[in-house]
Amino acid sequence: MPILPLHGHETLRARLADLAGAGTLPSTILLQGPAGIGKQRFALWLGQLLLCEAASRPCGTCQHCRLALDLQHPDLRWFFPHEKIKGDEPSTEEVDERYLGDVAERREAAGLYTRPDGSMAIYKYTAKLLTGLAAKSPALAKRKVFVIGDAERMAPQAANQEMSNAVLKLLEEPAANTTFILTSSEPGALLPTIRSRTVSFRLSPVPDGAMRPLLAEPAVAAAVPNEPPETLLAMAGGALGALIGGEGRRDAVARARLLLAAADGGRESMLKAAFGAGSAKARGAFRETLEALLVLLRERARAATTSGDATTAMRALRAIPAVEEAKMATEVNAIPQLLALDVMRAVAGDR
Ligand SMILES: [Zn+2]
Repeated sequence: MPILPLHGHETLRARLADLAGAGTLPSTILLQGPAGIGKQRFALWLGQLLLCEAASRPCGTCQHCRLALDLQHPDLRWFFPHEKIKGDEPSTEEVDERYLGDVAERREAAGLYTRPDGSMAIYKYTAKLLTGLAAKSPALAKRKVFVIGDAERMAPQAANQEMSNAVLKLLEEPAANTTFILTSSEPGALLPTIRSRTVSFRLSPVPDGAMRPLLAEPAVAAAVPNEPPETLLAMAGGALGALIGGEGRRDAVARARLLLAAADGGRESMLKAAFGAGSAKARGAFRETLEALLVLLRERARAATTSGDATTAMRALRAIPAVEEAKMATEVNAIPQLLALDVMRAVAGDR
């Protein structure tokens, strides 16, 4: 199954295509912008463009394009943070295998993936593999492209001076037929020595109109919370990738919906829902619930305004500061049950 098409970012696409056409595309690029707006998908698109040999690139139909879209092109390699391979220093072959497996997993999901959790990184052994691969000739195309997602997670390798120098040299003077495309939503966290070797381009949030066709894709529908398209667009705020959070994200939306329904259902249902709001230990999950609730309230206000129901719209808007307040209270020593009750009373206009 090919990965999902790239939507949005037309201006930057045209600009980079021009540079590539003129042969003046920098050899080490940093794509930066908010998390979830499709920087790695964009990087893969740029890689495809560089490997395509048609007159108008990327053509989408040549062998290079098809392999790239299937994440199977040997000259377009994709690296990103993953869970550390256990045991002593793994062999280069082992690391290579593991990454091919990681990429195959993303291929199964049409190129979608959950944001790597905080413990995942791009390890020293990956940098070593990268150095080895970069020294080889392209296997099929005239060039090689390496995409390195969430590149700020390369930091741990700094512990090894020798490896760090090898990677820096690689980024500074790649072979003429090699392009590195790094992506980062936290470029400030990149090692300055790496950042200074890149030419950076900024991606902006994707407009709703460009995200809408993606929501109709079955792979996307399976990966995001089960909500109507307009709610999802409101939740995404131009970063559809931010909604792909697996169960945690979906659960938060479901819990927020329960709170909303309970607030609409009267005191008894509010009390019941408050008791179910989780213990003080689950404050993080509760904070996510409140974040989801904010989105649902804004969505409710928007829908009510559209349908001319000013009372409902005003009530939803008035509840927003109370939810914000509760969210802040989760940072200190507050009890989720009581906060949930406060929030529901605000939503019901009973405060
Ligand atoms: Zn092509």
